[in-house]
Amino acid sequence: MKGDQWSPVKSLNRIVTMEERITYPEIDLFLRSTIKREEGFLKELEKYAEENHIPIVQPETAALLKVLTGIHKPERVLEAGTAVGYSAIIIAQAMGDTGTVDTIEIDEDMAEAARRNIEKMGLGSRIRLLQGDALEVMECLSTAYDFIFLDAAKGSYIEYFEQAMRLLKPGGLLVSDNVLYKGLVAQEQVMHKHRTIAVRLKEYLRLICHDERLRTSIIPIGDGLAVSLKL
Ligand code: SAH
Ligand code: MG
Repeated sequence: MKGDQWSPVKSLNRIVTMEERITYPEIDLFLRSTIKREEGFLKELEKYAEENHIPIVQPETAALLKVLTGIHKPERVLEAGTAVGYSAIIIAQAMGDTGTVDTIEIDEDMAEAARRNIEKMGLGSRIRLLQGDALEVMECLSTAYDFIFLDAAKGSYIEYFEQAMRLLKPGGLLVSDNVLYKGLVAQEQVMHKHRTIAVRLKEYLRLICHDERLRTSIIPIGDGLAVSLKL
């Protein structure tokens, strides 16, 4: 690489000072074009979600969910926020041939679309769709889970957390999506319409980073993913 031409690889190797950002659009592009992408029906589902502004996990987050699932080998997974079933399918497939995913969705049409997609992937017997408000449904659950993925109402993560801690086995994983919320969580001044969510997510991150019962890592991929291990 010649002169001062910017290179993502070179940039990854240099020392980053406090004032500098930790991600760059160029790095995001580089990652996006490097990771293995979905094919077939999941690719179609990504396209459908994009066209209909349905915020499914980004490819980098999907890749990490698969790795986490492969390492952790959960038998029972709980997801809050199904949308069209994309991440539930990703996780169920990464679990192999056994294990179940319970996934909660409040929106009736979304839940119906998810059911169809799950059937199409032949996962009807392993993914159970629970229609309703994530908090209310979680309050009614009692069997413990190995892995909980929070991806529903961002303003309610603190409320979900209490239920997630109750429902998570010791040694279980709590994975929370969208915790950096377009980067707004890290900004001092946030536009009014996003402020409440940004403040709540910041509180949520403080909570999961300092709770003695957990060990948490925040990963700046996708819209920000927090991975917490329940001790
Ligand atoms: N996990 C999905 C994306 C979920 S998007 C994927 O990556 O494929 C967030 C979803 O949460 C939306 O479908 C929305 O309808 C749902 N949602 C919002 N508030 C909710 C609530 N209170 N209870 C349950 N689901 C909720
Ligand atoms: Mg999300």
